[in-house]
Amino acid sequence: MITLALSKGRIFEDSLPLLKAAGIEVLEDPEKSRKLIIGTTRPDVRVVLVRASDVPTYVQHGGADLGVAGLDVLLEHGDGLYRPLDLRIARCRMSVATRADFDYGHAVRQGSRIRVATKYTQIARQHFAAKGVHVDLIKLYGSMELAPLTGLADAIVDLVSTGSTLKANNLVEVEKVMDISSRLVVNPAALKLKRAPLRALIDAFEQAVEARS
Ligand code: ATP
Ligand code: MG
Repeated sequence: MITLALSKGRIFEDSLPLLKAAGIEVLEDPEKSRKLIIGTTRPDVRVVLVRASDVPTYVQHGGADLGVAGLDVLLEHGDGLYRPLDLRIARCRMSVATRADFDYGHAVRQGSRIRVATKYTQIARQHFAAKGVHVDLIKLYGSMELAPLTGLADAIVDLVSTGSTLKANNLVEVEKVMDISSRLVVNPAALKLKRAPLRALIDAFEQAVEARS
């Protein structure tokens, strides 16, 4: 049995065409069913539904043989996973945003300490350290946009796709941290034990990604 960890929502939706190209169709719609384990048209392949940020944990510790997770989630999770394949799905960017009346460039040039609220503390720490910018990081779990509006922080580091959420909250994107897309991650032990079927699945995904780009 091969177990693939996916999260509900965009990663599940965007993974369906790749699965289909690999000859696999899921037998249930997670938005309609409460099941957390979903069978597929391949009797030896099943999908487990987990929180997006839990995918690396499932794959690292063998709860799943492979999984799909955003680069943001993987970088926050840290080491311990093979990162073999950029699936080019769930694409967005990690950016710094501030209130329009906050002069980010000035603060950076002055060497001021900047208060940054984010869910992505590892990525933010690495980004500002590389730039030599001093920051006080404030860990949040959601609705980062609120932080600059309430005076909790000067800036946020968050995922942006269209920018409409920032705009709706009078925030401006002042710096791109990195481009983000989802990756197929594989459990190294599973890759040894189930080498042939996993290799075939990874290759099929790879070809599907190639064909789509
Ligand atoms: P949870 O809902 O469990 O807290 P989450 O918010 O990280 O987790 P999703 O919103 O499904 O879950 O996001 C999954 C992944 O999709 C993210 O890790 C990121 O890589 C990517 N992503 C997030 N927002 C966008 C977006 N607006 N456009 C495209 N991709 C995105
Ligand atoms: Mg989300």
